[in-house]
Amino acid sequence: MTEQQKQHLKDLDHSIVWHPFTQMQDYVKENPLIITKGDGVYLEDIDGNRYIDGYASVWCNVHGHQVPQIDQAIKEQLDQIAHSTFLGASNIPAIQLAEKLVTCTPIGLNKVFYSDNGATAVEIALKMAFQYWQQCDKPRPEKNTFLHLTESYHGDTVGSISVGGIALFHQIYSPLLFPTTAVPVPHPYRCDHCNGSCNKACFDTLEDTLVKHADTLAAMIIEPLVQGAGGMLMHPQGYLKHAADLCKKHNVLFIVDEVATGFGRTGKMFACDNENVTPDILCLGKGLTGGYLPVAATLTTNEIYDAFLGEYTDMKTFFHGHTYTGNPLGCAAALATLNIFEEEHTLQKLQSKIACVTQRLTRFQNLKHVGNIRQCGFIIAIELVANRQDKTPYPFENRIGHQVCKLAQKNGLLLRPLANTLVLMPPFSITENEIEHMLNILYDAIHTVTESAS
Ligand SMILES: *Cc1c(COP(=O)(O)O)cnc(C)c1O
Repeated sequence: MTEQQKQHLKDLDHSIVWHPFTQMQDYVKENPLIITKGDGVYLEDIDGNRYIDGYASVWCNVHGHQVPQIDQAIKEQLDQIAHSTFLGASNIPAIQLAEKLVTCTPIGLNKVFYSDNGATAVEIALKMAFQYWQQCDKPRPEKNTFLHLTESYHGDTVGSISVGGIALFHQIYSPLLFPTTAVPVPHPYRCDHCNGSCNKACFDTLEDTLVKHADTLAAMIIEPLVQGAGGMLMHPQGYLKHAADLCKKHNVLFIVDEVATGFGRTGKMFACDNENVTPDILCLGKGLTGGYLPVAATLTTNEIYDAFLGEYTDMKTFFHGHTYTGNPLGCAAALATLNIFEEEHTLQKLQSKIACVTQRLTRFQNLKHVGNIRQCGFIIAIELVANRQDKTPYPFENRIGHQVCKLAQKNGLLLRPLANTLVLMPPFSITENEIEHMLNILYDAIHTVTESAS
């Protein structure tokens, strides 16, 4: 491609493309990052610069880019058919994937409903839970609201932002949203309940709120162990199990959103596996296809599924679907992704990489503006603060996280911050040498932005 052709594409990107979660007024002032190629943990841009994909293409890539088995699976499926409808009809990879998902997810989740992104997987979960209480054996139609945590993120559709709790993203839409009940996020570094050492008072707050509202709650929804977009906020051990037990006890459905944590991110296949939890409804997305194609899934129990059975004229059907539900190319990619976990013992190999990260993160404590380092498996977050003693955040307008990421990008590492928190979520195929390289780039970028410059 000539320089002129490249420039033309950049100009077009600036003049007619509107990017998600992007202030376009700033975006058009900078050279756009146009990714043209990926291999393993590396991405390459239109100018030939190479980067480590430190954010797994925003939390979805699993085994790296251009993985031979996944590429092959998609090509083979393409030689058969790219897409046919799932409404009242089926296809081979979607059936096979459903079998695999039922096998690898917590026991008791026996029914698979497909969609094409995480927000819709959540939207489906909410509608399922709501409709369940209208149609179950002893209907409880007054159970029609939802409990969620503050700082939660479940996607960007109107239903999923109704159960979201991030003011920056959600406040503006508040007149559009249905009413919900929220409990404070249990986040040890900045906890409403305890100071420094965890006293598990958050467990009691959850119980009190749940008991108080149980009669009108259809379900509680939670990001298990780690609240992603809220800033990689990590719950105290046992909180997930506690929430699951409370919901069971008080007859509230338990929806777990594993869109970000699923498929190995926490070191186990699912975050639920860390605390032996089986939700009533499980939402999957992001890593499901290895980060290749948009497929998501909502899994549920026989009990919930059965509440939707009846004569056609009973109108108990689940009235929900999308044009590309059960897309065969995406399901083929997902099947190949899951097969690699088995064939290459991905999770077993991941354990030493998790330990390697833990060990190499310790030196970040030396940086004066690192307030908190959090890690859950292969989810790593480093929160920068203006003042370490009193945890004063950097001012919003400083965009400190953005500054660090810009510098890291110049040095060959792609990341995207969550406000003042830097996030590392590399593909599992990263080597220990690459981990070291990635962390060195980040360390130097934090040092330069927070210490040298100011
Ligand atoms: C990313 C994310 C979603 C939304 O998924 P999309 O595919 O972007 O719609 C939902 N829940 C969680 C926990 C997420 O991290």
